[in-house]
Amino acid sequence: MSGRGKISIIGFGPGSEEHLTQRARNAISECEVILGYNTYIRLVQPLLTGQEIVRTGMTEEVSRAQKAVELAKEARQVAVISSGDPGVYGMAGLVFEVLIEQGWQPGDVPEVEVIPGIAAVQSCASLVGAPIMHDACTISLSDHLTPWEVIARRVEAAAAADFVIALYNPRSGRRTQQIVETQRILLIHRAPETPVALVKSAYRVGQQIVRTTLAEMLEYEIGMLTTVLIGNSMTFWHGDLMITPRGYQRKYDLAPGVQSLQPGERLHTEHEPWALETAVHLAEEALRKVQK
Ligand code: SAH
Repeated sequence: MSGRGKISIIGFGPGSEEHLTQRARNAISECEVILGYNTYIRLVQPLLTGQEIVRTGMTEEVSRAQKAVELAKEARQVAVISSGDPGVYGMAGLVFEVLIEQGWQPGDVPEVEVIPGIAAVQSCASLVGAPIMHDACTISLSDHLTPWEVIARRVEAAAAADFVIALYNPRSGRRTQQIVETQRILLIHRAPETPVALVKSAYRVGQQIVRTTLAEMLEYEIGMLTTVLIGNSMTFWHGDLMITPRGYQRKYDLAPGVQSLQPGERLHTEHEPWALETAVHLAEEALRKVQK
């Protein structure tokens, strides 16, 4: 045991032990005190070997972070656990903010280690195929800490820019209209038949997956344990699978057989008429012609 306090901010992934990283597992066994939301402590309980447990409620993140800092300053080895990745709507940012508030600088005591985990956007996507194969974003619909106006603006921008979107915290007992308003904004930019997957409790007891469309998604249960995956304009269903093409079909023959473009030809500008370099090249040529 070192004489210097340390805070490990651990992401434990979606909830199944097999999806916990080895580093997260080791960090849990190295700590003396573990702090977390009750449900999350229950999820990692099988891995505990006598660590002191400090359980807190869901809206007690600030006191949990403050407690972690206080204990680490007493030279204790502290673990704070978050589901998924601790830096994705998790505890990592808050612990740093509480430390900074107290004048902490990188390199100071306590030492801080952020241990990444598989975020819900990734674990949920894996259960329905490959929906996040192209540019994507996460948007939390929780307006407890973020003004609704800001959230709505981001939904609008993401929809207009054709991002695949993962909605976190889509609906709770008290927050029921946000998902309705989000669907309305999305439908301005995206087709009603856009593929949508509602993934609840991925890799946990009670896992449930609904495959639907943007127009019909509100007819199904959406709650605090759901992540809503919304396809872009290219996303399609193939049976149970939600697939977003990366664009290979623009250049390659995906059917079995020989590729029409040889490896040496694939990066030539004439085979990438959509690329920026090609556009610049064509514009320069046109300019030269005009100047002649
Ligand atoms: N740090 C977490 C996110 C916490 S915010 C992460 O990286 O995944 C809580 C939201 O995450 C939930 O409302 C839900 O939208 C999503 N979420 C977390 N775990 C999930 C799981 N196992 N299945 C589906 N959604 C999940």
